[in-house]
Amino acid sequence: MTETETSFTPRVFSGIQPSGGLTLGNYLGAIKRFVDMQESGIQTLYCMVDLHAITVWQDPADLTRNTRELAAGYLAAGIDPSKSMLFNQSQVPEHAQLGWIFNCVARMGWMKRMTQFKDKAGKNAENASLGLFGYPALMAADILIYHATHVPVGEDQKQHIELTRDIAAKFNHDFGVDFFPMTEPVIEGAATRVMSLRDGSKKMSKSDPSDMSRINMTDDADTIAKKIRKAKTDPEPLPETLDGLAERPEARNLVNIYAALADQSVEAVIAEHAGAQFGAFKPALVDLAVDKLAPISTEMARLMNDPAEIDRLLGQGAAQAREIATPILEKTYDIVGMVRS
Ligand code: ATP
Ligand code: MG
Repeated sequence: MTETETSFTPRVFSGIQPSGGLTLGNYLGAIKRFVDMQESGIQTLYCMVDLHAITVWQDPADLTRNTRELAAGYLAAGIDPSKSMLFNQSQVPEHAQLGWIFNCVARMGWMKRMTQFKDKAGKNAENASLGLFGYPALMAADILIYHATHVPVGEDQKQHIELTRDIAAKFNHDFGVDFFPMTEPVIEGAATRVMSLRDGSKKMSKSDPSDMSRINMTDDADTIAKKIRKAKTDPEPLPETLDGLAERPEARNLVNIYAALADQSVEAVIAEHAGAQFGAFKPALVDLAVDKLAPISTEMARLMNDPAEIDRLLGQGAAQAREIATPILEKTYDIVGMVRS
């Protein structure tokens, strides 16, 4: 093995699709944790993955608006462009360029095992886009074009990070190099999988057809209250211990959301609310959610009044990101044997 690089500087990358409005799941499972990593002093890159969003149909005007709104969400939640690089994927063409190479590294058998494709394509897989099927190879490129060592994500992305490691390992092995790192997923906290408010077996998603299934970051206080009040639960009070939630997915979900919003452990929330009926717990959750989310949605609305400033920040972030991505892509082409003149 020729060693081109043996150790990798810690670097964090993660992305969110501008495929709809931000949800509470995206906030608790992703953005809130992105902010913590930014503050830990590691180099952080955060992306609006617009090339992923178009794997399913996006109305062009909606895509533009959702990209800016997602940027506003990142900023309002505490991503600071002087500390993190914040940009949209299509402004850094090296993602797609490395993505092609990885299309040629990833194996069909690996891709066919991806559960997200099965979930998203549903019964009509023959009619899904080729991009939706190939998406995880582009995601591997999003991460590895920066030699990112850590990727904070929700639980649903675990399989895609494992695939990223498989692609890195096969590339390194095939070309006899130690060029791409074995990226670690960082899936931590009480809300790594926020569930739909209507169905405790389904993940909360921005693309779910039912708006009542999720809390959007732009929902006002009355809407948040209505959605939590109507969230599916069961007739039992909250148990004394965590074990008592094992077979109660909807109840568990609300407790997890409470814990993540309050920055408490799930155990602490259970200890505090043991014996409470949902008639009492839900209003407490509404107060907490409104308290935490209102300042973010107010700031998002303010930022959305100046789209030119958002675009300027994204352009600046893309230029910074390319400074890392360009030499890694060039080195990759070199390893593969492509002539560069
Ligand atoms: P879509 O329905 O279009 O796939 P999404 O809501 O799943 O949208 P993504 O852009 O796919 O959002 O994911 C962005 C990040 O948010 C990822 O890290 C993902 O793991 C995380 N995430 C998404 N949904 C949840 C959830 N319900 N709970 C926790 N984390 C989540
Ligand atoms: Mg998703």
